[in-house]
Amino acid sequence: MTMLGIMAALPQELGDLVAQMHAAGAVETVTLGQREYHVGHAHGVRVVATLARIGKVAAAATASALIHVFKVDAIVFTGVAGGVHANVRVGDIVIGDTLLQHDLDASPLFPRYEVPLLARSHFAADPSFSDALALAAASFIADEGSALAERFAVHAPRVHRGLIVSGDRFVASNEGVLALRDALPDALAVEMEGAALAQVCFEHAVPCAVVRTISDTADAAAPESFAEFLVAIAGAYSSGILVRFLRSVH
Ligand code: SAH
Repeated sequence: MTMLGIMAALPQELGDLVAQMHAAGAVETVTLGQREYHVGHAHGVRVVATLARIGKVAAAATASALIHVFKVDAIVFTGVAGGVHANVRVGDIVIGDTLLQHDLDASPLFPRYEVPLLARSHFAADPSFSDALALAAASFIADEGSALAERFAVHAPRVHRGLIVSGDRFVASNEGVLALRDALPDALAVEMEGAALAQVCFEHAVPCAVVRTISDTADAAAPESFAEFLVAIAGAYSSGILVRFLRSVH
């Protein structure tokens, strides 16, 4: 049976996953590198759930521990992100089919964005896990989208798939998001962990997938929008997507 690593940066982004694991049976909690790894089951799947904390180093270190210490077969990241593309709005869900580090620049020695000595800038998520996440997200929106839109005064939520860009920067200015759009016109969303996870998983040939709910649009309103969305809504989205996803891969 597959052992799935599920990670997020912040507690709200895991939703009720750890509670669901406790409800499903025994959970062993292991502390390593100042992180807690919860080992158990959720919705019929063997799961190791953990919080990476924020940023690329945190995500890479956590992914590495999930692979080497906990021997997971695949890793899914769930969390929030800033919308970059003009069509991506607060309350939408973005599945990262490919991921790139927008703050990586070893030019002129290597092309902009390329990971030195790895000869690539874009890292692909696993297509079948990404498909399963997209179906779970679509079914969550079909079931609960209009209620969510009304409750939280967001537009009717939509699911997008494509490029997610990651960097060690909370993008929260109009110039910042416009610069990202200019430099990377395909980018749908910006966050701080996904591409680091994707690089580590590529290096170890472990499938990974990233699902992000849009908490803000990476502009001057981002700090307030992020804080409000994280507390009020992020957990509902993560729980709703994860339950459908886990039931489908079980
Ligand atoms: N001030 C916040 C820090 C949040 S960092 C705090 O004290 O908790 C933002 C987190 O959400 C990161 O984990 C990142 O992956 C994601 N994120 C959401 N919106 C983002 C944006 N506009 N730019 C970068 N990351 C964003």
